[in-house]
Amino acid sequence: MPCIRTLGACLLLLSGSLSAAEPWSDLDAQIDQALPSVITLRHIIHQHPELGNREVDTSRRIAQRLRELGLEVQTGIAHTGVIGLLRGGLPGPVVAIRAELDALPLTEQTGLPYASTVRTRNPGNDLRNRDQEVGVMHACGHDAHMAMALGVAEVLAAHREQLPGTLKLIFQPAEEGPPLGEEGGARLMVQQGALQNPAPDVIFGLHVTAGKAGTFTLSRQRTTAAADTFVARIIGRQTHAAFPWTGIDPVPVAAQVILAWQTIPSRQSNLSLLPAPVISVGRIEAGDRHNIIPAEVRLEGSIRTVSDSQREDVLQRMSRTAKNIAEASGATAQVDYLPGGYRAGYNDTALVDRLLPVLEQVSTTPVQVDNGTYGADDFAEYARQVPGIFMRMGVTPAALEGQAVWPTHSPGFQVDDPSLAVGIRALSRMTLNYMGVAGENG
Ligand SMILES: [Zn+2]
Ligand SMILES: [Zn+2]
Repeated sequence: MPCIRTLGACLLLLSGSLSAAEPWSDLDAQIDQALPSVITLRHIIHQHPELGNREVDTSRRIAQRLRELGLEVQTGIAHTGVIGLLRGGLPGPVVAIRAELDALPLTEQTGLPYASTVRTRNPGNDLRNRDQEVGVMHACGHDAHMAMALGVAEVLAAHREQLPGTLKLIFQPAEEGPPLGEEGGARLMVQQGALQNPAPDVIFGLHVTAGKAGTFTLSRQRTTAAADTFVARIIGRQTHAAFPWTGIDPVPVAAQVILAWQTIPSRQSNLSLLPAPVISVGRIEAGDRHNIIPAEVRLEGSIRTVSDSQREDVLQRMSRTAKNIAEASGATAQVDYLPGGYRAGYNDTALVDRLLPVLEQVSTTPVQVDNGTYGADDFAEYARQVPGIFMRMGVTPAALEGQAVWPTHSPGFQVDDPSLAVGIRALSRMTLNYMGVAGENG
C-alpha cells in the first residue's frame, strides 16, 4: 500500500512496523520451548476425557491455564464453553481460533501410558446407547486442538505488548453433538455471543487427522459437508409369514427403497456441477420373530451433502422415492431428518489465498488443496458469520506409518506429539500475518 502521509509519518509507521515484527523473530524457538508443557497438558486432558456438554473439568483446566497466561477469561458459554482474550498492546484486528472440549463414547485401545481408562454413563445423542456405561476417549483429537490453542496463547502472550491485535480463543463444548434433548456446540456458542465483544475479523480451525505428521490439507471454498441423520418408516400390515398376501410386507419394500435411493447420487445428481450427495443406511430394524411379517421397517442413516440447496433436494427425492415405491405395494413411507444436523462449511477463498504461503512455510510437505471432505464439523457455524479457514493436519506418529490406519473416531487413534509444534506454528504465524506482522519468521 503506498504511503500518502508526510515523510515523517511514513518513517514513524515504518519504524512501528519494524518494531512490531522484531519480537516475533524467535517465534520458532519459543514454540520449541513451550512444546514440553503443551505435550504434558495434552496428555493430562487425554487422560481425563469428558462427553459433550459435560466437559466440566476440561473447561476448568482450560480456564485456569488461560488465567495463568494472563488472558481475560469468560466461562459458562453454551454450558461449558470458555473464551480467552489476549489483547495486544498495539491496535489491530481480532483473530479467533476455535478448539473443541468434548471426547467420544469409545473405549481406548492405544495402550499408551496416558491412555484414558475413564468410563461414564452416556447421556447419549442416540436413543439406543443412552444411559449405558461407556468408555470415553479423545478419539477425534480435540485434546490436541486444545493443547495447540493454549500453545498459541503462550507464545503470543510472551510479547503481548508488541501484538498488533487481539487473539480470541474459543473453546466450545459438544462438537460431536449434544445429548438428545439438549442444545449445544457451535450453534449455541454463536447464539450466546461467542462472536461478539469483540467480533472476530477472521476465524481459524485446525483439525487433526490420520496422515503424515505435520502435513496440511485445506480447500479454497467448500470444506466440510452437511451431515444429517434421517429416519425412514416403511409401514405395512403385520401377518403370518406363510400367508404374506393376507398383509402388506414392508421388508421387500424397504429393500427396494434402499437400492432406489442410490440412484439419487448416481442417476439424478448433475455430477458435472456439484459433488454427489452420500446416502448411507446404517441401521435397519424390523420384526420380532422369524415367521411373522412385521408391521414396519425402520431405516436410519446418514446423508452428506455439499450445499444447503442439495440438502433440501436430497430429502425431497428420498421422500418421493420411498413414498412411491411403498405405494406400489400398498404400504406407506415417511422420511425425516432429525433436528440438529451439521451444515456445510466454507472457507473464505481470498483469506485462503492470502495465508496459503504462510501454511506452505510450516507444512512438512506441500499443502494439499482439495475440494473439501464429506466429513462434517460445526466450525461451519462460525465460518458462516466470519471469514474462516478450516484446515486438516496429519498427526500419525512415524512409528505407525505403513501400518493399518486408525482414523479419528477409532479406538486406536493416536497423535504424534512433536507435530503439535507444527500446528502451533501454523496458527500463530497465520494470526501474526493477518495482524500485519510480515517477515520470514512472522
Ligand atoms: Zn469427531
Ligand atoms: Zn472433531
